[in-house]
Amino acid sequence: MKYLPTIGIECHVQLATKTKLFSEVDNDARGKEPNACVSPVDFALPGMLPRLNGEAVRLAILAGRAMNCEINSESRFDRKHYFYPDSPKGYQITQFYHPIIDEGYVELPSGTKIRIEHAHLEGDAGKLTHFDTYSLVDLNRVDTPLIEIVSMPDIHSAKDAHDYCKELWRLMTFAGVSYGDLYNGNMRFDVNVSLAPEGSTELGTRAEVKNLNSFRSVERAVEYEIARQSKLLDAGKKVVQETRGWNDGTGKTTGQRSKEEAKDYRYMPEPDLPPINLTADFIETEAAKLPLMPADYRKKFGSILKAEILEVLLDYSELMKKLAEIDKKYVVAIANLFTSVLLAEEKSAEYLNDLPATKQLNDLAEMNEKKELSSTATKEVFLHLFDPQMKRRDTKTIAKELGLIQENDLGALEAIVDLVLAKPETQKAQADFKAGEEKVIGFLVGQVMKESHGKANPSAVQDILRKKLK
Ligand code: MN
Repeated sequence: MKYLPTIGIECHVQLATKTKLFSEVDNDARGKEPNACVSPVDFALPGMLPRLNGEAVRLAILAGRAMNCEINSESRFDRKHYFYPDSPKGYQITQFYHPIIDEGYVELPSGTKIRIEHAHLEGDAGKLTHFDTYSLVDLNRVDTPLIEIVSMPDIHSAKDAHDYCKELWRLMTFAGVSYGDLYNGNMRFDVNVSLAPEGSTELGTRAEVKNLNSFRSVERAVEYEIARQSKLLDAGKKVVQETRGWNDGTGKTTGQRSKEEAKDYRYMPEPDLPPINLTADFIETEAAKLPLMPADYRKKFGSILKAEILEVLLDYSELMKKLAEIDKKYVVAIANLFTSVLLAEEKSAEYLNDLPATKQLNDLAEMNEKKELSSTATKEVFLHLFDPQMKRRDTKTIAKELGLIQENDLGALEAIVDLVLAKPETQKAQADFKAGEEKVIGFLVGQVMKESHGKANPSAVQDILRKKLK
């Protein structure tokens, strides 16, 4: 039997604020000792009260607008109760009834639109590390600000699930809302998958795969769930509504626990925090700070760059900002340099975040256009421009120092050609060429290149040789 998969995705995005959502300790615990970034508020000591971080609200506005969402003028916090050793309060402060971000949509590169149901602000939980007979609790991550983005069940394939997550990551990094460091769990995806017989108007029972932290694992987990559920349904069995875990090594999901209902969490309004009231003016002022988004770049460069090149470059927000500053006539050349040189050599994203100056790149493209640099030399200079010591230097000076500038001065080139043609070892080749042996021109050009220490412009040399050997 054929089934139509229906997929909805919840994504937790860690906001790049300086301090936590409800306290004034450092939000960046990378490289720090466990429990080093914890305040009495995060510990939930008696009498401690949360205070909302305004920066998180401003970032939520940007995140919402990046997803074409309405921002609610009033939103509120709620308590979601559950006991877990890494959550000292015994509840999570989240937004259940009145989230800050309302409906919107994310458009995939293919043009498919995935609707956003809502997105809300909430605090993260801590981290447990389990050993044989004991577990360790690290509260550094407690109440790190998150937004949880809830999609509508608009996704129907593993590939679209992958593309949606990747596009969300791009939107959040381009908007500057999150560092988007997937390795450190800055974005985590929970994927709901259900199958229904094709043509059916009802959705099937869904299973939720929790805590995926890469686009590839989202895609693989969805593929696995589609196959697993199809097999069950084909055999006349039922899919159990449950939470499942993903094992990247085995490529399988396994059942963990039956899914709680909302009522199990006993949501209630958070009494320690007032509602967030935002004026239309404030929302618009903040939303206006949203920089160019992937969709804007697709519009801007779509007619001059190939889609496959543009989609590769769109993984790097800093690079796209740079490209927007480049002289329009050099955009294609610079985009090609980035794609071919950097991506072929698998330079890390970090490398791409410290880019050469715009003028250096414009000058480089101009030198290539004027044939002062061959294409090989252009690539070589390009790589040198990433050297921190070259950052503020003039491209032409760097190229000169590297001895890569081509000799285009026809008078100077002619003198070198004459020198080579006077050499006894080129006499036979000259005679052969005159007798019609076309291919020996390569040998002669090579001799001139050698004489010029590689700086002659080979096509200019060839022109001069042909004139002289007529
Ligand atoms: Mn959540």
